[in-house]
Amino acid sequence: MEELIQEYLLDKDNNIIDTKNVIYDKNLLGLNYFDFADDLTLIKILKDIFKKVREKRKIFITTYRCDNEKNMRLFELEIIPLNNGILKLIHKLIKETNRSIELDLEKRSSELFYLCAWCNRIKVGDNFIEIDDAVNKLKMLEYNYLPKFSHCMCEECKEKLLNEMEDFDK
Ligand SMILES: [Zn+2]
Repeated sequence: MEELIQEYLLDKDNNIIDTKNVIYDKNLLGLNYFDFADDLTLIKILKDIFKKVREKRKIFITTYRCDNEKNMRLFELEIIPLNNGILKLIHKLIKETNRSIELDLEKRSSELFYLCAWCNRIKVGDNFIEIDDAVNKLKMLEYNYLPKFSHCMCEECKEKLLNEMEDFDK
């Protein structure tokens, strides 16, 4: 497994003041960390967590999925309070598993799906399932294209984060 650790430093208003190892097609400095999230539920929960970390001056650790074409990837996110409301975010790849199929992330089918921003599962009917399962079992995607998707947050992830926040609060 490749070593992958990305770091962000955020000021008290969550603007990015420094990054390490973050490869992006534009300069991130000065942008707000939440400019890159498009699900309001997730933004709200993360903002609450950031606020609590600053108030309690205690490290918060959680995990989330950020897959790519070839691999299902589990990341650990460590949120560390520094002085003056500054937060250090460390995103660390902790587990990587090959996908059963290779997705072509460049091409998109025209159908719109919802993808949980936190576990990367896709909404099919009332359930959230792995994209691979959707491709393999349901044959819903042509040619392994990733569908057009909009981010959302599934109930399980929402509950997981809220529970972690509750434990953190104790
Ligand atoms: Zn989820």
